[in-house]
Amino acid sequence: MTTAGRGRDGRWRILETIEYDVVIVGGGTAGSVIASRLSADPGIEVCLIEGGPSDVGDQRILHLRNWLGLLESEFDYDYPIVPQPRGNSYLRHARARVLGGCSSHNTMISFLPPPDDFADWVNAGAAGWSYEEMVPLFKRLAVNIVPVAPKDRNPLTEDFVAACHRALGVPVVENFNAAPFADGTGFFPVGYYPETGVRSSASVAYLHPHLDRPNLTVLTEHWAYHLDPSTGVSVKNGRNVKRIKARHEYVLSAGAVDTPRLLLLSGIGPAKDLEQLGIKPQHDLPGVGANLLDHPESLILWEASRPIPPMSAMDSDAGLFVRRDPSADRPDLMFHLYQIPFTVNTERLGYDVPEHGFGMTPNVPRPRSVGRLTLADAGPATKPLLDFRYFTDPGGYDERTIVDGLRLAREVAATEPFASWIAREIAPGPALRSDQELSAYGRAAHHTVYHPAGTCRMGRADDEMAVVDPELRLKNVPNVRIADASVFPTMPSVNPMVTVLMVGERAADLISAELNRE
Ligand SMILES: Cc1cc2nc3c(=O)[nH]c(=O)nc-3n(C[C@H](O)[C@H](O)[C@H](O)COP(=O)(O)OP(=O)(O)OC[C@H]3O[C@@H](n4cnc5c(N)ncnc54)[C@H](O)[C@@H]3O)c2cc1C
Repeated sequence: MTTAGRGRDGRWRILETIEYDVVIVGGGTAGSVIASRLSADPGIEVCLIEGGPSDVGDQRILHLRNWLGLLESEFDYDYPIVPQPRGNSYLRHARARVLGGCSSHNTMISFLPPPDDFADWVNAGAAGWSYEEMVPLFKRLAVNIVPVAPKDRNPLTEDFVAACHRALGVPVVENFNAAPFADGTGFFPVGYYPETGVRSSASVAYLHPHLDRPNLTVLTEHWAYHLDPSTGVSVKNGRNVKRIKARHEYVLSAGAVDTPRLLLLSGIGPAKDLEQLGIKPQHDLPGVGANLLDHPESLILWEASRPIPPMSAMDSDAGLFVRRDPSADRPDLMFHLYQIPFTVNTERLGYDVPEHGFGMTPNVPRPRSVGRLTLADAGPATKPLLDFRYFTDPGGYDERTIVDGLRLAREVAATEPFASWIAREIAPGPALRSDQELSAYGRAAHHTVYHPAGTCRMGRADDEMAVVDPELRLKNVPNVRIADASVFPTMPSVNPMVTVLMVGERAADLISAELNRE
């Protein structure tokens, strides 16, 4: 670590450099796993740099059901998006600013992806990331993943599951992680401790038990704004500027928004774009910031016929997976059931806000629209430009998925025992029926389930747009790896946190194998 002070000219000066074996930028979902696994070896000195505060003892973070209260709070970087010609330009992307990262903020829905998702990764050049190679990493995860506990199962949600089964013929699944599934409905597997309602985040599961390790330094409220692998990571802590150097390597785990942002600020990215911003290119890597992926989802909102009982793990406890393509082995349409009225986007469109309400959210599991992250200027504090290009895929696949989903949701809504919970459909409203009407509503009201990924994607050495190789090494830049959601070559069909945790586990294996060889 290097500390800084002001010289006579008032400028900040670096006073001292402190070195560690491994320096991890971002104490989030993947970063917590890597710091924990590496520091289990007392011979490895690890420094974990986290931009946000600690979550230890903070019930606002630890109590899983409070996740909605964290949106746009002091624990959220809260990124806007650029205007979307075919999507909802108003949505904001939550990114957690706290130890544990988004696993300290999210709903902890915890899915192992289906085998074909990893086959897609291998086909995209990620050799060594097949389903068979990933399952052992899933089995060793320290997060406490359990199906929503019986005491938290809401009667509304139980009736939803029964109606999905009856209306669509999909199986009721008790544990989605027990075996690969092509379709199904049921309560989600969730990373939490049902007795206390505490989230089993990456921080709780991987860091809290080991914070007293002498070889693990966790620097909270430290923001990395520049990386030069030969001299170190420059970080800000309030008014203090420090530089932290790695003897062995740097691991960037700042997430799918902030990892490419840090690279671009450091002159690593598309050289032409960097020059235009006045940033001196250090390494021309055209793929940095490209391949911005997300799971968009829309909403069908109902007014409840009666108050909804209070029990729940986190207010979105169950869902539905549908396979429209009968020849496929995995779902191509997904829904969360929200047991609460999530009306941020419908209210803006003029729809009523019910006192008691709930909704189903048609979601595109493998979206075909691809966006891009760029910088607005060279200032480290300026938020990056996120252009998801929602619903712009040329074949209209993403839009079609939302339209099909709104129609299927109406079938479920017409089926008992769910039907009698519904007083009326508020949005899109029964008058909207045609493809065109459902598409226009579905896109205007769509939101995100906060799954940005892919902005530093993994691929073959000869793939010009790949940013890291299958061992997560940054191309052409020695001693730097990336390990977080940004390395995803393609989007998993399910909620991505478990995949990020597995990326963390794999990164730790790769780094310790290399350290042990030295
Ligand atoms: C509200 C919400 C709900 C979600 N629900 C689910 C769900 O139920 N299931 C699921 O599977 N997925 C869910 N997700 C997505 C999932 O949580 C993320 O995909 C995953 O946690 C991302 O992990 P990561 O390691 O890539 O990044 P993060 O976990 O975001 O970690 C990045 C860390 O880096 C830190 N950081 C960033 N920049 C810097 C910097 N320059 N210097 C220092 N530190 C920095 C951040 O503070 C953060 O702690 C949700 C996300 C959100 C926001």
